[in-house]
Amino acid sequence: TCMNSVGPPGSGKGTQSPLIKDEYCLCHLATGDMLRAAVAAKTPLGIKAKEAMNKGELVSDDLVVGIIDEAMKKPSCQKGFILDGFPRTVVQAQKLDDMLAKQGAKVDKVLNFAIDDAILEERITGRWIHPSSGRSYHTKFAPPKTPGVDDVTGEPLIQRKDDTAAVLKSRLEAFHMQTEPVIDYYSKNGLVANLHAEKPPKEVTVEVQKALS
Ligand code: ADP
Ligand code: ADP
Ligand code: ADP
Repeated sequence: TCMNSVGPPGSGKGTQSPLIKDEYCLCHLATGDMLRAAVAAKTPLGIKAKEAMNKGELVSDDLVVGIIDEAMKKPSCQKGFILDGFPRTVVQAQKLDDMLAKQGAKVDKVLNFAIDDAILEERITGRWIHPSSGRSYHTKFAPPKTPGVDDVTGEPLIQRKDDTAAVLKSRLEAFHMQTEPVIDYYSKNGLVANLHAEKPPKEVTVEVQKALS
């Protein structure tokens, strides 16, 4: 099984994808989370990815395809995966098809988190994340029990360096130019489920469940 979550920054991919993972016992692979961990650990991958991420530009296809290829081979991922934030370019989508074909698998469903750009600044600037798990909170829409503290582990939350109004502009530009064509790519195969991502989280979850049933 392979499902993909595609949508602009702040559309709710990281909030909904873990729920799908639990329901279908899939592996949740979020390229943004993996890249941030690499940046924090100053690995060679992180050193190469950091500048593009801080500017709100996409990291090169070769780097992200490499991390997905690596992650897909993990024993814990053999039942399948929900890909969050990948593919973000048509080249990545084609490479993904090739990688899956080698395993006799294919993309089963693409969740399109459709949302108006105007809503995203408030979502992005109010986001707080728990770096090691990727869990996200929002000061207004999904506040943690204690401000600045992860509900599950009690560890501190951080704000992402790229979660500013200025960097969001570049990220949205990258989304419209490079990622929207990915939705067209999958539409041709009838794989896309369009979600009303501007609705409250629980209503989006219901739409996701309908799309996957
Ligand atoms: P993405 O992974 O697509 O960038 P997130 O899931 O991290 O988006 O959501 C961005 C921010 O908006 C987070 O702070 C999250 O708590 C909040 N959020 C997620 N879904 C909704 C929703 N349906 N309505 C309001 N806020 C949401
Ligand atoms: P968001 O959840 O806000 O959409 P992500 O956490 O998915 O953002 O991604 C953060 C940054 O990591 C992106 O702006 C980009 O620089 C990089 N990145 C993540 N996934 C990819 C990808 N598939 N291809 C290229 N760059 C990526
Ligand atoms: P700089 O050294 O330029 O201040 P950082 O290394 O602090 O940059 O942060 C680079 C990126 O990594 C930012 O997007 C930030 O949100 C993220 N980040 C920082 N600390 C962590 C961490 N412990 N785990 C995951 N991501 C992190």
